[in-house]
Amino acid sequence: MKSIYAKKLRRITALGLIIICIISAVGIKLYIDKTKLYEEMSRMSSSVSDLSERASGGKERAQEKIEELESRLNELEKEKDEDKKKIEELESENEKLREMKKEKEKSSEKAESTEKKDSREPAAAPQPNVPEDGSVSSGKVVYLTFDDGPSKNTPKVLEVLRKYNVKATFFVIDGKGYNKYMKNIVDEGHAIGLHSETHDYKNIYSSLGAYLKDLSNIAEIVKSETGVNSRIIRFPGGSSNTVSRKYCRGIISTAARKVHNMGYEYFDWNCDSGDAAGNNVPVSKLVENIKISNPGTDRVIVLMHDAGNKSTTPKALPQIIEYFKSKGYSFGVLTEKVSPVHHKIAN
Ligand SMILES: [Zn+2]
Repeated sequence: MKSIYAKKLRRITALGLIIICIISAVGIKLYIDKTKLYEEMSRMSSSVSDLSERASGGKERAQEKIEELESRLNELEKEKDEDKKKIEELESENEKLREMKKEKEKSSEKAESTEKKDSREPAAAPQPNVPEDGSVSSGKVVYLTFDDGPSKNTPKVLEVLRKYNVKATFFVIDGKGYNKYMKNIVDEGHAIGLHSETHDYKNIYSSLGAYLKDLSNIAEIVKSETGVNSRIIRFPGGSSNTVSRKYCRGIISTAARKVHNMGYEYFDWNCDSGDAAGNNVPVSKLVENIKISNPGTDRVIVLMHDAGNKSTTPKALPQIIEYFKSKGYSFGVLTEKVSPVHHKIAN
């Protein structure tokens, strides 16, 4: 009996042990799986946070870029506005200039008869070689003017003028090695005027004193090369230039008054060859510019340049002369007695 119980007990015990073993095995397996799962989860979460970090970094950079672009856009818009304002300013100046030109021409046509008498008077006093050209005293007169010489082109310009027996006016600068041509200009009967010693806007327009110093320097050079005390002036950039504003407010107004008080006359132009627009402007373009900008009045002052890099200007000159001849103009030289063409001073 006892053995039967003992047997049963052993069996139960063995069964219990087996069950415990199974439970333990399942428990261990579950534990292992869970651990793996945790590991997997933590790996995933770290890679997720990695990704989100990267994403947020990228977002920040993108944000910065956007801000940068926005500020650049703002700047550009501001610049655009400023440019617009400048253009409007220039346009209104241009308009004023046109009106002024018209008025000036009307009044100068009225004054023509008295002025003609003046220009026939011996302006030769300071410029002894300026001819008293009878043809200049009546009818339509064109004054060919050349700025920025003397240069290597001066002999070419003089040759054309000689060939056509036409006189012109040269507003000169310090041409250094070419200054010897000043004498040829005067000897061949052309007028010589004062443009600038340095033609350096930021220097000459920095103050009245600086302007007058530059003027007296070029006057000295002309005097020593030619013996002429020139009394005629052309402001670099013309009296209507606005670039001088950058260096000194009101400098042109002040200088214009001053040179008048000193007995000089300054001359702008009412016909423009456009040779200042660039180097080697085609001959046909120069001639066309003259025809287009010719105001058709009895007195035309033509702007051209005698600088070394304006090599198409002497080439265009024969056609320019022939054009004015065909329109019935005679060719005059400027003196301080000739009633001037003045632009509207803009500074
Ligand atoms: Zn010039």
